[in-house]
Amino acid sequence: MLAKIPEKQMHIVRSILAGGWLLLICSLFYDPISPWLTYPDSTWSPFRLNPNACIQVQGQCLPQEPYPMGASLFWGLIVPTGVFVLLVFGHEFWRRICPLSFFSQLARRLGKQRQRKRVNAETGQVRYELVKIKHDSWLGQNYIKVQMGLLYVGVCGRILFYDSMRPVLGSFLLFSIGAAILVGYLYGGKSWCQYFCPMAPVQEFYSEPRGLLNSIAHEGQSGVITQSMCRQINEDGTESSACVACHSPCVDIDAERAYWDRMKRPDYKLLYYSYAGLVVGFFSYYYLYSGNWNYLLSGAWTRHENQLNLLFTPGFYFFGTPIPIPRLVAAPLTIAVSMAVAYYIGRYLEKFYITYQRRRSPNIAPLQLQHEIFTLTTFWVFNFFFIFAGRSYISKLPIQLQYLFNITVVVVSTLWLYRTWGRTNDRYSRESLAGRLRQQLTRLQVDVSRFLEGRSLESLNSDEVYVLAKILPGFTGDKRLEAYKGILRDSLEEGYVNSSSSLEVLRQMREELGVSEQEHLTILTELGVEDPDLFDPNQQRSRENQLRMQSLRSRIRGMVGGGKRRRGAQGLAKDLFKVVKKEKSIGDVIEKEGTVRSLSQQYGLTLEEEAQILADLDEDSQILRRGNILLEQLNNLREQELALLNPPSSLHSPHLRTGLQILRSTVAQKQRVIAKGVLSILEELETGTEATRFALALASLTHHVLPELLENGDPLWEDRLDGTIFSRMEEQLKQTDDQSTQVEDTVMVGYLEALFTEPDSLTKAVSLYLLAKVNQERAQQQARQLLESQLMLNTLLKETAQQILQTSEEKESITPLEKLLYLSSYELLMGLKAESLMNLAYQVSLKEYERSQVILEQGEISKDLFLLLRGKLEAKHRLEDGEVETEEVVPVVPLNELEVLGRMETDSTYTVTSAKASLLAIEVAMFDSLLSQDTAFSRQVIEQESRRLQQLSS
Ligand code: SF4
Repeated sequence: MLAKIPEKQMHIVRSILAGGWLLLICSLFYDPISPWLTYPDSTWSPFRLNPNACIQVQGQCLPQEPYPMGASLFWGLIVPTGVFVLLVFGHEFWRRICPLSFFSQLARRLGKQRQRKRVNAETGQVRYELVKIKHDSWLGQNYIKVQMGLLYVGVCGRILFYDSMRPVLGSFLLFSIGAAILVGYLYGGKSWCQYFCPMAPVQEFYSEPRGLLNSIAHEGQSGVITQSMCRQINEDGTESSACVACHSPCVDIDAERAYWDRMKRPDYKLLYYSYAGLVVGFFSYYYLYSGNWNYLLSGAWTRHENQLNLLFTPGFYFFGTPIPIPRLVAAPLTIAVSMAVAYYIGRYLEKFYITYQRRRSPNIAPLQLQHEIFTLTTFWVFNFFFIFAGRSYISKLPIQLQYLFNITVVVVSTLWLYRTWGRTNDRYSRESLAGRLRQQLTRLQVDVSRFLEGRSLESLNSDEVYVLAKILPGFTGDKRLEAYKGILRDSLEEGYVNSSSSLEVLRQMREELGVSEQEHLTILTELGVEDPDLFDPNQQRSRENQLRMQSLRSRIRGMVGGGKRRRGAQGLAKDLFKVVKKEKSIGDVIEKEGTVRSLSQQYGLTLEEEAQILADLDEDSQILRRGNILLEQLNNLREQELALLNPPSSLHSPHLRTGLQILRSTVAQKQRVIAKGVLSILEELETGTEATRFALALASLTHHVLPELLENGDPLWEDRLDGTIFSRMEEQLKQTDDQSTQVEDTVMVGYLEALFTEPDSLTKAVSLYLLAKVNQERAQQQARQLLESQLMLNTLLKETAQQILQTSEEKESITPLEKLLYLSSYELLMGLKAESLMNLAYQVSLKEYERSQVILEQGEISKDLFLLLRGKLEAKHRLEDGEVETEEVVPVVPLNELEVLGRMETDSTYTVTSAKASLLAIEVAMFDSLLSQDTAFSRQVIEQESRRLQQLSS
């Protein structure tokens, strides 16, 4: 709700609130004013005490003495208001006004945060980096438990020490402020809020996945400042992100994303269920201690003058009898038991609910059910909380306003429930992808106005955006692919997908835009060519990091004096590049321009990230760097290609060679895309030593695909490249060949495992299958990891992995992948599309025969086309003169291709001569339907068969 309010104004609001809070804390130590409001004779004051009232505690009336109101206001009004604000206005509202968050940022504002010294081992250069809590550190992994622990300690401390002891409460609040400032000094970002603040679980409980009036972060422009994201005011008055990526996913950037992500963590259940127990235990303890509800509802617990004296008095009062368990033990025990019981009840009800819902709708996602349980928990606890919280103040209102308050709580929480119930992770992903699509439509300047009847693109919901993208006349072919590429790039940059998960995660988007799996894979390779760092596994990819780098780049570019990267950088960019090349010290540049280092420190850049950003500014060095990375990739592909061309003897059988051929196509496809990238670099470089080096290397590494590229470029590469460079490349092509020695099994394992990491399912399945032939143990390890991963697997791939893990007794005689490989190696089917071939693999049946069994008789008309896979046959053809011609038949070969296609009688009698024989039987009807569906295939079959008939008749 406050996301759009400028930081300047919010800073003022936060300062006022922080000032007010400090004033309140001062009043806890010295307050000569507010007791006046509570004097029984202050008839004008709504807070005056009634001297005749008897609020019983363990059977005794509490004395009614005037009291300073600081503690009462804090516990009775401010804390309940905070809870109400969280559910209604959301997390972003609270985080932008929270005084403790304000104090935690003091060190950052003063530029006095702790810096870690780092020395560059190569240059000896010293630099200082902001310290952040690492995601994989103990605290990074256990912060929810730490925060829940601190909350428990805080709540017990409240009951025991500072419910009413104002100086102790004041000291506790000062201690909290001190701790927030210290954490803000020690660690970058909002580490206090993210990893330590005991109120953070409370915030998450009431405000996730989103408050009633929360702003939406996932459907907007990428790079804009969202929700309560850290931000700063620049010298020119504009705002920019101040995110240093202290936590990912960050609740301040997108609370709903953080919610869906965290829901997979087991300790999130601990947070939800045990917090519910904490609330119940906390309020119940006042009853268990005093023996009545009036003690709690009147707020009398905030005005005990002798709270510390109560520590060793009886902590419970049951049926008119004080129980001699000291309060010091009773209160923590009650809260702890209540939290533990609530946790176990929550887990039990969760199981019950999931079983019940699963019976009704078996396909419902587990995450969805978990969300429903959390939503119900929050709804219930919020209403329970307001039965008790703030009642000492609400009860002073006229009765109509009290009713109005009660109705407001129920209405607000019901609206929240209604709005939250239907949220799903899928819905969130769909909306966020629709947001990306919206950005691409804007970026590509597709004319959408005449379809929107006055509405803006931003006002469309996600379904409408998808429909619009489908019907837009100007949004077809290349534009769709370009938009998809933009979406994929953003998703990769943000770490939303990686190269292996992108195919599955973006499936729906692909279907909506009509982008095929193959196109996706090509685009993925293209993106790797354009920005090789995108797939660098050493780079941290998260939305937080992307925002941080994006913001920093734009600020540095702003300093350089231009929005775009330029070739032959000038001015500061040139100087900065000299720093990278160690021709200048960063100090010289800083003296000149002043702020680069401080920017780098502000954004918490590491040495490597800073070098990367600086190098980015000089396009000449970038081109060379990109070219070198691409050549390295081509070199790896060439090694894979040679290994596939010269496989070990264990992969020599014909159907395995077909598998190798499939992998070679994958390699060739990547080579094509990368080679195009290198050609574009050559075009930019024009001439020179580096251009010659690139050209020669390109020709020697891609000699199977480069000639085709050179012939088909539009305009032709010959016209785009320098003449000398082009001829050198052609000469090199003529000299390159595939001569290489046969690779060993152990070496082949590495290549197959590398191919197994490719995103497309067929390549994965084939490489896994071949890996099993050269190293069963490694293949089983990979198969196990694959099946244990959270990824949705293609059926063929899943079955291949499962089959590799089966024992020899469990194994089927042939798997669909093996059928696919045999079918692919059959010449007649080579022109069939990959999808048709895969479908066929699932439809054909395997037939097995014993020695001496007859498979086909001469003269019979068969309904199946037989393909011999294993074993040996004898074919006997009786001539008209009675003479018999005998021939041996060995795999892989079709028996009756011409006869089946021509609906003729079988030419020979086939008898099994080996112990066993296995054949694939393709039904004629199946074959006919393939021919009718695919005209190119049917033309190819006709040509092939007529050639064969000609050979037979000649
Ligand atoms: S991740 Fe970024 S936006 Fe979120 S709290 Fe940390 S620094 Fe702020």
